[in-house]
Amino acid sequence: MPELFRAAKAATMIPGAPVIDDAAVIVSQGIVTEVGTYRCLAPTHCGPVTDLGDVTLAPGLVNAHSHLELAHLRGLCPQGQGFMAWVEDLLTRPIFDLDPALLYKALDELKRTGTVMVGDIATRFAKEMAGTLEASGLFFVVFAEAIGEAVPKKSFIPQAGHGRGVLSVAGHSLYTTHREVLRAAKAEAGARGLPFSLHLAEHDDEVAIMAGEPSAFLDLLRSRGRLLDFAPPGKGPVQHAADLGLLDETTLAVHCVKVTDQDIETVRASGATVCLCPRSNHFIGGDRAPWEKWVASGTPLCLGTDSLASNHDLDLYAEALYFAERFEGDLSLTELLAMITRTPARILGAGDRLGTIEPGRVAAFSTVPAAVIDHFHRPFPSTIPPAPEA
Ligand SMILES: [Zn+2]
Repeated sequence: MPELFRAAKAATMIPGAPVIDDAAVIVSQGIVTEVGTYRCLAPTHCGPVTDLGDVTLAPGLVNAHSHLELAHLRGLCPQGQGFMAWVEDLLTRPIFDLDPALLYKALDELKRTGTVMVGDIATRFAKEMAGTLEASGLFFVVFAEAIGEAVPKKSFIPQAGHGRGVLSVAGHSLYTTHREVLRAAKAEAGARGLPFSLHLAEHDDEVAIMAGEPSAFLDLLRSRGRLLDFAPPGKGPVQHAADLGLLDETTLAVHCVKVTDQDIETVRASGATVCLCPRSNHFIGGDRAPWEKWVASGTPLCLGTDSLASNHDLDLYAEALYFAERFEGDLSLTELLAMITRTPARILGAGDRLGTIEPGRVAAFSTVPAAVIDHFHRPFPSTIPPAPEA
């Protein structure tokens, strides 16, 4: 029997659609069948009514970048000391010793804070993580991470059938994944019509390594057997990724902190989507991406929490509030919500199921926290100078 959900407001995230006051969403068998005002839909509805009260209903959230494999590292990794110190510490830790209890805690946290889908990077346990996510009820893309020098003989992507998600492949980075491995991984994802993801332009050492400059981080990688036949391309990370053919409309480029104006235009023109991870960059002690330039460029943008090795929690609304509070310029609530609903749903291949509240989509909702609503209703600081004293 169809059920009607009533809410004070609904941000459907249908492009161009206004926020609905006194909204009603009718759901049948887990699928949205009608969206409108309560006044219009209630008279013809027969079935239960759930009044959600004074809340703003939004689509269920999509976290475009996580590493659930690292859920057991919450609270253990150093903060604010820079990327190299963070990696050096990480390499001393039992990265692949999954702790099921802490993994389930992370999955519960995702669901409790409104997330319904993740784009998750799995370095070793892609198949297992897909099974765990399927059982959890979350939608997902699990990206099996390609790292190192060897192109696998058969496939980057473990075979596994799932109802709520797919497996695909991600490159770890330009400095830990051989360029031919990156090309092959991108080609396989493309041939299968799957999204491809890559950590890109995250920190200064990545820029130095690409430019062929001395880098203690490069020395660290070489001491661990990485990049032994690496020839610096002599260009910035974004340009190198573009020249390798890694950037197009099915690519999700993660971080994109160290970018020039030309890089931003290169990414925009490629059609790629960018996932910003503001709190992760801050946690590690790096710079923040030029968020305002990214927004102004019109590049499709998402937000991701990144892993619990570089973030305090997996609460995507907390990530969004952190971003909004520090954003210098105009940013609307709708623009912010698009970064955690419609845009990541589309790049992760779930735009026909999630990301908006409209007929035919899965009935997967979140409610916008009061702190986020309050931020957008806060009056602008006064720019009127104080009156001169008489
Ligand atoms: Zn990451």
